[in-house]
Amino acid sequence: MKNNSLLGVFLLCCLTGVALAAEVSGKRLAAADGEPGNWLAHGRNYGEERYSPLRAINVDTVDKLGLAWSFKYPLDRVVEATPIVVDGVLYTTGAYSMVFALDARTGQLLWDYDPQVWRGYQGRGCCDAANRGVAVWGDKVYVGVYDGRLEALDSKTGELVWSVNTLIDAERNYTISGAPRVVNGKVIIGNGGAEFGVRGYITAYDAETGKQAWRFFTVPGDPAAGDESETITMIRKTWFGDQYWKQGGGGTVWDSMAYDPTLNLLYIGVGNGSLWNYKLRSQARGDNLFVSSIVALNPDTGKYVWHYQTTPGDAWDFTATQHIIVTTLDIDGKPRRVVMQAPKNGFFYVLDAATGEFVSAGKFGEVTWAKGIDPQTGRPILDREAADYWTDSDPKTVFPGSQGAHNWPPMSFNPQTGLVYIPQQVTMEYFVPLESPSTVQTGVPNLGLEIPIVPETLEGIEELAQVYRGNLVAWDPVRQEARWKQPYEHIHNSGTLSTAGNLVFQGTADGRVVAYAADSGKRLWERSVSSGVVAGPMTYAVDGEQYLAFNVGWGGAFPITFGALAYRTGVVPDSRLYVFKLGGKAPMPPVRRRELQPPSPPPVTADAAALAEGKSLYNNHCGVCHGLSALGSDIIPDLRYLAPRQHEEFLPIVFGARSHKGMPPFGAILEPAQVEQVHQYIISRSHDWRQELLKRSTQREQATR
Ligand code: CA
Repeated sequence: MKNNSLLGVFLLCCLTGVALAAEVSGKRLAAADGEPGNWLAHGRNYGEERYSPLRAINVDTVDKLGLAWSFKYPLDRVVEATPIVVDGVLYTTGAYSMVFALDARTGQLLWDYDPQVWRGYQGRGCCDAANRGVAVWGDKVYVGVYDGRLEALDSKTGELVWSVNTLIDAERNYTISGAPRVVNGKVIIGNGGAEFGVRGYITAYDAETGKQAWRFFTVPGDPAAGDESETITMIRKTWFGDQYWKQGGGGTVWDSMAYDPTLNLLYIGVGNGSLWNYKLRSQARGDNLFVSSIVALNPDTGKYVWHYQTTPGDAWDFTATQHIIVTTLDIDGKPRRVVMQAPKNGFFYVLDAATGEFVSAGKFGEVTWAKGIDPQTGRPILDREAADYWTDSDPKTVFPGSQGAHNWPPMSFNPQTGLVYIPQQVTMEYFVPLESPSTVQTGVPNLGLEIPIVPETLEGIEELAQVYRGNLVAWDPVRQEARWKQPYEHIHNSGTLSTAGNLVFQGTADGRVVAYAADSGKRLWERSVSSGVVAGPMTYAVDGEQYLAFNVGWGGAFPITFGALAYRTGVVPDSRLYVFKLGGKAPMPPVRRRELQPPSPPPVTADAAALAEGKSLYNNHCGVCHGLSALGSDIIPDLRYLAPRQHEEFLPIVFGARSHKGMPPFGAILEPAQVEQVHQYIISRSHDWRQELLKRSTQREQATR
């Protein structure tokens, strides 16, 4: 009876084109597959499969896709959000946690909301002023704000309803980039900051009032303050020394969550240890729970149920914060409810959703840190020779690197093909341990390791770029093997979407949006867009017409920190939401690519010693945002390309003249003489680069003669 009346309402809406004005509820979310036109939650359904049953756009029609409309964001910065569509309204976010509500048919702006994040707060985070989207529940829209607020907005007007500060310590470098999730009337949000020294936790708030319901800490804190729960007492036994709690311990829950309504379990992905250096963090002893783990919680109480640790005693930034999918797989001839994840460490995991029992694992990326996963215990078999940099303070090159074999761009699971579509990548890192930890400071990364080294010459960059490659991998989670792959020249490509139209969609770092056949991997459709794409694409329908949405706007840790490689994509910051439909006729926005020759810099006046000092200061204080070794991708200004006036105003800018635009003030950290050393180093790098480009073009000319 109930089903019939629901069907009636659904049919009425489809036939008349009247938007269903019902509010988003737990019941609606749990039955999300029954209303394919909507995309009600971050990963579409609670299991976060990112699979759409819509099939109007399919392998036979996909070549008729054209632009329906596009929306230009006010800031040309990173866009990581998956939009949510509820009954004809699309909700999305841009940089600095700005929220936008648009008419899903036309792209017309209905309202926007700017939480007014102080731009200088950018320096508190590792990975750009990113936001991965909102949650919608009842008559409200929820956004996690970069500076640690969680806010509820009126879904009709965008007016602020309530705002809470989720941070336990305003002095520590906490940020929020993840999308909140709503379960049983509670809004749940974690945070980031483990590269700077923080203690991870996740908090649930009453969706109506914002009142705190529960908080779950993922790592133990100061023992003198007492353990918050029996769970903390249990996990403290896996930590050693006193640095772990002084340095924060890490374990931030900065992205993934999924929920199983039948089991009533909330799954959270827990990040890396802080410090990264296992010896400095925990005397190289113990598993350091719940670092790099998937933890199952009761969403009503925040109580621990089970955990599975992907990387015990993590020493390489191998977060388990990557996308979690909850679904049913046919295993040994029986349907089994499972949790799936492809974390940074390069192994694809299938776990029992009810118990956390290890089902299977397979290597989906380039891996040197472990020889495999022990099928009996589910623990990795560490390759000490290859990966242990701490015992003898012996630097090591390890695959994957801190960018991971898969990072946050979400994967998708297509129940028709039985395949998971992973934005996979090959990365590596040279880990050089420090002898002792530094103290936690505002906006200063604190890894217990040297800041990662990047090549400084064109030749070195091209060599490393042969290693850093991306792939779209279609993974069979039952057999734990790849079915097909599509290679990319760059890493840091977008999340994926798969549909009942036998399609997989993905955007690329070099500014393309692409469709593949889900079963064969054949490339079927492609368009160039205004910038690099990292966000997960999504699809929806209004008035019976299917739309396909790509959030475009490059950024994140790789483009800003590893500009040495990322500049090669050639994309510029130009952030837009592109929405396609069959027969769409809207004109495509212009596509620009980057000019490589920097303007003529002033002469270098410093000696070699001052330049060396400038380099060290630069890499410690500037490199995370402007690119290590002054090699940027220009998402955040590439300082080798400063205009003459900016060179003249260098000191005032560093001391805060542009804090309103996102440049944190360094007056309390650097002396004017040190700023001059940094400036001289940047000027020298600009000269180096001009010469290298000149050399390359001369070589090319000679070769073509
Ligand atoms: Ca990390």
